[in-house]
Amino acid sequence: MSQAPRPATGRTAAQNRSAADSLPTEDAELEEAHRGLVAEFHPAVVAGREGRVVWDLEPYDFLDGEAPDTVHPSLWRLGKLTRIAGLFELASGYYQLRGFDLSNMHVVEGREGIVVIDPLISAEAATAALDLYREHRGDRPVTGLVYTHSHVDHFGGARGVISPEEAERIPVLAPAGFLHHAVSENVFAGTAMARRAGYMYGAQLERSPNGQVGAGLGQTTSLGTITLIPPNLDVVETGQEETVDGVRMVFQLTPGTEAPAEMNIHFPDARVLCVADNAARAMHNILTPRGALVRDPRVWAKYLDQAVELFGEESDVLFSGHHWPCWESERIVDYLEKQRDLYIYLHDQTLRLLNQGLTGPEIAERIELPPSLASEWHTREYYGSISHNTKAIYQRYMGWFDGNPAHLWEHPPVEQAHRYVEFMGGAEAILEKARASFADGDYRWVAEVVNRVVFADPDNREARQLQADALEQLGYGAENATWRNFFLMGARELREGISGTPTATAPPDVLARLTVSQVLDAMAIRLDGPRAWGHDLRIDWRVTEPDEEHAIAVRNGVLRHRPGGHEEQPDAALIIEREALDQLLLQLADVGELAESGRLRVEGDAARLGELLGLLDDPDPGFAIVTPE
Ligand SMILES: [Zn+2]
Repeated sequence: MSQAPRPATGRTAAQNRSAADSLPTEDAELEEAHRGLVAEFHPAVVAGREGRVVWDLEPYDFLDGEAPDTVHPSLWRLGKLTRIAGLFELASGYYQLRGFDLSNMHVVEGREGIVVIDPLISAEAATAALDLYREHRGDRPVTGLVYTHSHVDHFGGARGVISPEEAERIPVLAPAGFLHHAVSENVFAGTAMARRAGYMYGAQLERSPNGQVGAGLGQTTSLGTITLIPPNLDVVETGQEETVDGVRMVFQLTPGTEAPAEMNIHFPDARVLCVADNAARAMHNILTPRGALVRDPRVWAKYLDQAVELFGEESDVLFSGHHWPCWESERIVDYLEKQRDLYIYLHDQTLRLLNQGLTGPEIAERIELPPSLASEWHTREYYGSISHNTKAIYQRYMGWFDGNPAHLWEHPPVEQAHRYVEFMGGAEAILEKARASFADGDYRWVAEVVNRVVFADPDNREARQLQADALEQLGYGAENATWRNFFLMGARELREGISGTPTATAPPDVLARLTVSQVLDAMAIRLDGPRAWGHDLRIDWRVTEPDEEHAIAVRNGVLRHRPGGHEEQPDAALIIEREALDQLLLQLADVGELAESGRLRVEGDAARLGELLGLLDDPDPGFAIVTPE
């Protein structure tokens, strides 16, 4: 079986060429992406522990050329822009560090030192960014740290800019609820989200015109050490003002927008506005394809409107968590208003159409942006898409069921696949027709129909090959970076098999910030229900350093925990250090080791603890996606 990527077909090439003709003709963003450049980040390579490369833009040098047949011309354009890396001056004393990671880090110069905003994903990347800043602006100490929101690409590199000890002496600001959301987002569905994020960001794809060319918000994600330093100063309301090292900041809380805890920051003395990830130079996600709760575009638009009202006329420069800045008050207002209208348009039109009886997939095909929005580069579907965002809005209001009872009780994929393949005359007959569809350029249909053949018989090599070829052409034709990555990862999995997941879900720094209740919640969803049916367990858990008590019971196939309580007649009591608890559940240490080192002790029937741990199931970080699990 050929495993190498295939070239674009004539159909895909023609489609990409004609897409080039329909792109907006004016492009001021190239100038904006270079404006204020103080120093290029070159070579744009960051090494991690043991010489491991955690960031490298060099493999993207191919983006210098003209758009090839295998990449949508608009996505190619974005790749050229997002690989620009360096230190940029936005206003006197305001600096952007771009191209060190998926996200941006910002530095504001104060009286004694600097306030750092959003220290990237990993400590190594954040250190590299700070080093370049200091090389050109002097060795100023960090006198304040600000997190704009609870996503890892905005806090994970914290230890790369300050030590935990330094953090005790300086203000670390974040929107209310930051810590809870930063640690809880990945507790329940973390493994599956990470698995799908591997598809979405395409980290394992080769960087090439046939592979990964970017990730929409930036080139890709850095692969260094994820850390978390908790905030010590909460922003609790809009209008709150804080001065850190002489830098005056006025905050606008924007909870429930792009992230559950998020805020915009205005610097009135410099007329600079930070809009976090509430606006980007791309359509953002109402629902990220890696999986998450659906966001609320109505609330999002409302806060963008409030930002215009509060700060629009008081700002000469705008910066955000990704992409390049925007200059001039009038253009900032226009930009924010169009971003606002982008999300509310998708929301309102989806609701209008669903109230006429259209379902998610139908609405997704029906909605088109008004020309006044569609003609802007920053509304383009590089990250979010009209298709998946409108389906997400339908899902937010209506759920998975479209009301048609034929869809109320469908067979699951494998059972469905067997029946379809049989009714359609068998695998051979389907593949013959599908090859004709492929020749006609109907890759979307090929992907749908051959998927059934693969699910009915994952060993059918011809089906896998044809499916991979169809997904690949869909990837080549996608303007959306994350769609491209999903399609190409799917093709890769069909050709080469499953290759695991590059990202870990729970770094120790993040895990240590979970409450004991959250740790026990996470344990409860690992309980293998059927195996637990016949078990009846009562164990008191005494966690030390810090001290906490929880009563745990397994009954009815459910693990229930109650903080502060005691079981009436516990089978056993477990006394365990907090850190040991994390290690036990992460399987970094077993009961025997912990008991030996005195960090875990069992009073009563010790076998009952083993019984409980034996009922826990392990998540699968490398589950199959384009083939049956
Ligand atoms: Zn971000």
